[in-house]
Amino acid sequence: MSSATPGPRCPRCRRPVAAWRLAHCVYCGESFPPDLKEGYEAPEALKWIERPAIPIDAARQLEVMKVLPWEAKKKPKPALLFVAGLGVAVFVTIFVLLYVIASRYMPSLSFLVIIIGAVFVSYLAWAFVRASRRGTG
Ligand SMILES: [Zn+2]
Repeated sequence: MSSATPGPRCPRCRRPVAAWRLAHCVYCGESFPPDLKEGYEAPEALKWIERPAIPIDAARQLEVMKVLPWEAKKKPKPALLFVAGLGVAVFVTIFVLLYVIASRYMPSLSFLVIIIGAVFVSYLAWAFVRASRRGTG
């Protein structure tokens, strides 16, 4: 066989193997049989080629695209988060004011206000967390 480029060729597209250490064709993606490269010496020029040149930025972009939809699914919607934060803040303010009033006029009841407020706000936060998880998951 007197070919211009000695070495194994892709069984599907008949192009010479470009990336010696890969087990598939870089042109058509065909998987090589394990004995395809047997009996051939790895060409010096091809030894260190891993894959056709993909710019690092493009590879990174591919990674980001793989990750982003999953991330978006996991995170609660910003609007819902905003409403939840606002609601919690409003109720915290209300209970702080109640505590201020109670401690001034009914000091014996101020502790009760704190306990009720803490329970109510934590219930509210828990309900929002649950709702946001159910809404997106
Ligand atoms: Zn091929």
